[in-house]
Amino acid sequence: MNLQSQCQCGEAKLNISGKALSRGYCHCLICQEFNQAPCADVAIFYADDVEIPADKVEFVKFTDSAMALPRGKCRACGKPVVEKMKIPGLPAMVFVPAETFADANAIPAPALHMFYHRRVEDMPDKLPKYSGSLRSQLGFMRQLLPAMLKHRQA
Ligand SMILES: [Zn+2]
Ligand SMILES: [Zn+2]
Repeated sequence: MNLQSQCQCGEAKLNISGKALSRGYCHCLICQEFNQAPCADVAIFYADDVEIPADKVEFVKFTDSAMALPRGKCRACGKPVVEKMKIPGLPAMVFVPAETFADANAIPAPALHMFYHRRVEDMPDKLPKYSGSLRSQLGFMRQLLPAMLKHRQA
């Protein structure tokens, strides 16, 4: 399966060769700042499946958080393109903003809210909502691990 995502201006394109593991909303302050939005809506992929054009994407680091991931934005339009995540003991993963996919059906529906205590507005959906840094990360793992097993069998 091949997917493509691209930023608003179209300069920074990602070629993706595998399915998304999951998708979720993050309400942390860094995501708010990076996305210039109340929260981030991101799909999660194995990093090995995603080709990042180094000449088009500039990585920035926010250092004041437990979730200080290298975040990549388009060098041309400055919009979020990708975030890298490495959890010890697990394969490297990346987060790709849902809005960069032309076809919303190409990625799964959102499965959870993280860092919900930082929310700008309440979300009226029935998805699990995790507050606090540790509980958010545990909730994320609880969602991610079964998705990883399923991904392997698929
Ligand atoms: Zn976040
Ligand atoms: Zn761009």
